[in-house]
Amino acid sequence: MTLNGKNAIVTGASRGIGRATAIELASAGVNVALVATSLSDAVRAVQAECESLGVKACSYACDVSSGKETKDLVMQIRKDFGSVEILVNNAGITKDGLMSFMSEDDFDRVVGVNLKGAFNMIKTVSGLMLRARCGRIINMSSVSGLMGNAGQVNYSASKAGLVGLTKSVAREFASKGITCNAIAPGFIETDMTKDIGEDNPLVSSIPLGRMGRPQEIAQAVRFLAESDYITGVVLRVDGGIAM
Ligand code: NAP
Repeated sequence: MTLNGKNAIVTGASRGIGRATAIELASAGVNVALVATSLSDAVRAVQAECESLGVKACSYACDVSSGKETKDLVMQIRKDFGSVEILVNNAGITKDGLMSFMSEDDFDRVVGVNLKGAFNMIKTVSGLMLRARCGRIINMSSVSGLMGNAGQVNYSASKAGLVGLTKSVAREFASKGITCNAIAPGFIETDMTKDIGEDNPLVSSIPLGRMGRPQEIAQAVRFLAESDYITGVVLRVDGGIAM
């Protein structure tokens, strides 16, 4: 798919991977709807950076775990942009803890944002894509969802759930011109991983010897958005840690 002139929604666009993705898409001529939990200075700054690349950019506050909020959000984006060809479900949180100590609330909240958030967004946005018979859905999973990770039962479950959701959506929509893929990043330098230092044993176990950069995930998003013949894949961008 030619990206220039298309419209994209990027959730979790205020920081980290979402910010890099919005800027990468904007640099390809894609208009971007930027979603975060609030209309913070951070998301406004991403909006300004995208606008400086010559595209339309708008910011929206929405908790993606809420079906009502995501429905209202997509109605507003439809009014503002007219159509949506690309959906990047990137919003995500962690609430880590060992299984024995993890509260029900922490399990529900992480699954609610990371997994149900993607479901909510796809449910509403896919209506627009189905009518246009064109769409690219990209879900941000994680190597934690492929390998598991001690202390991340809730997070790993949500990210593994995204793999099943991705493949089912890919099968349902393949005949309608809509692809659905997932990216499984390894350890990427963002706020989410700010407590992991370069001397952490996790980093030395990465075959390529370093953490990834948000732009390296953004480039994978762009690649999947451009591709017409890739659907249902989980693309690891992880320096080899999960091979
Ligand atoms: P980050 O820097 O912590 O940013 C998280 C983003 O998600 C922020 O924009 C935040 O908005 C938004 N967000 C959080 N809860 C939300 C909600 N309920 N509704 C809407 N937006 C919400 O995270 P990141 O490291 O860039 O990670 C982005 C995605 O990649 C996540 O899904 C994460 O699980 C995945 N991932 C990251 C890594 C890594 O190493 N960093 C590895 C594998 C997978 P506010 O600014 O308003 O809070």
